[in-house]
Amino acid sequence: MRHFPVFLALAGRPVLVLGTGPVAERKADPLRQAGAEIRARPTFHPADLDGCALAIGADAPEADLRALSAAAQSRGIPVNIVDRPHLCSVITPAIIDRDPITIAISTGGASPVLARMLRAKIEALIPPAFGRLATLLGSASTELRTRFPDLAARRRIIERALTGLVADLVFAGRESEAAAALSAEISHNPPAPGMVHLVGAGPGAADLLTLRAHRLLGEADVIVHDRLVSNEVLAMARRDAERIFAGKARDNHCMKQEEINALLIRLGRQGKRVVRLKGGDPLVFGRGGEEAQALAAAGIPFEIVPGITAALACAADAKIPLTHRALSRSVTLATGHTENGAIRLDFEALARPGATLAIYMGIHTLPALAAGLADHGFNPATPAALIERGGTPHSRQLSGTLNDLVRQAPAWTTGGPTLVIIGDVVDQPVGQACAAA
Ligand code: SAH
Repeated sequence: MRHFPVFLALAGRPVLVLGTGPVAERKADPLRQAGAEIRARPTFHPADLDGCALAIGADAPEADLRALSAAAQSRGIPVNIVDRPHLCSVITPAIIDRDPITIAISTGGASPVLARMLRAKIEALIPPAFGRLATLLGSASTELRTRFPDLAARRRIIERALTGLVADLVFAGRESEAAAALSAEISHNPPAPGMVHLVGAGPGAADLLTLRAHRLLGEADVIVHDRLVSNEVLAMARRDAERIFAGKARDNHCMKQEEINALLIRLGRQGKRVVRLKGGDPLVFGRGGEEAQALAAAGIPFEIVPGITAALACAADAKIPLTHRALSRSVTLATGHTENGAIRLDFEALARPGATLAIYMGIHTLPALAAGLADHGFNPATPAALIERGGTPHSRQLSGTLNDLVRQAPAWTTGGPTLVIIGDVVDQPVGQACAAA
């Protein structure tokens, strides 16, 4: 972040606008709307800065603009000279005015055109009625605070208002009915019970989250996440949401599964909106099923939000079709995880030809996996690929025969989560983007 955004209170305060012309006028307009007293001057005299809260320069002689910049900065008055970043102590954002909501967009001066484009997009997303909705909620804020001193409970009521009947009425222009509906919500609603959302975080890239996961991340009171969940995804969460790291690196479990289950139940009982965020899909080798069972047994409401599982993300990254006409009629998701040192897989079934295998947690047990398959007649020259951190900008791939990979994997891995894909589909034309071994 190159600049720190703040919103200036300018009501009744002088602001110097140096320059006369369309640009100066355009700059003065929103300042006037914010209640500033505009001091418009064609040329610069230091006394014009006296008492000013802000100074803007545009459409004035170059020497005057420089003098204004220097004088304002030496007096600690924020100054912006249009199109001359080196003369500015503050930059002015593109603004969306949905009074009392103000949205300011800045590209740090890199591209004002892009800022304006983003403004148009956001403007389309946020109809003017949002301003009226904000005003309505603002007028109820004291009542809300008195009736729901607990922040989490208050937030739930507000969120319900923002997504339900109250918002619908405001958007339909029926404001007095909206106000009545809001008071009814406030006075009749008992604090809602908590809920746990078991949410798939996908492979790591934020734009591979589902829209539902994205929305829930923005609404959660608490986020309980695993090691596999990327920082990029966590950055989508509400800033003030509590974050609890529940760990689980290989052989390094931070919190036992029973402890995680108990934590989710406890948070649910406290009336929290909990997002239990798990890498990929919560029900694919993620023990989400156990968490769901524990929540059900404890009577805590929950839902499951699917995510893009590693097999899908990695296959897409490596351009490997998991099934392909005439080559593979099925795909099996299996785990290379060992229990007491042994891989417990039905190798006879896995070794059948004409299918694709996607092996999770398999890179460290690849030799045992390959041996188990070979024992059941599987061809060790079958094409295979390793995909590390698939579905993220740090994705790496290695392809060869299964035998090649068994040999090369230890030197190749950098320790990131890795999926093994085995099958003739790895050699398909669409798969040629995979780096040769
Ligand atoms: N629930 C997760 C899987 C958890 S098991 C999902 O649906 O994807 C953890 C294993 O998943 C890792 O050992 C690795 O084999 C695989 N994995 C998870 N994320 C991955 C990624 N971005 N790239 C490659 N493999 C990944």
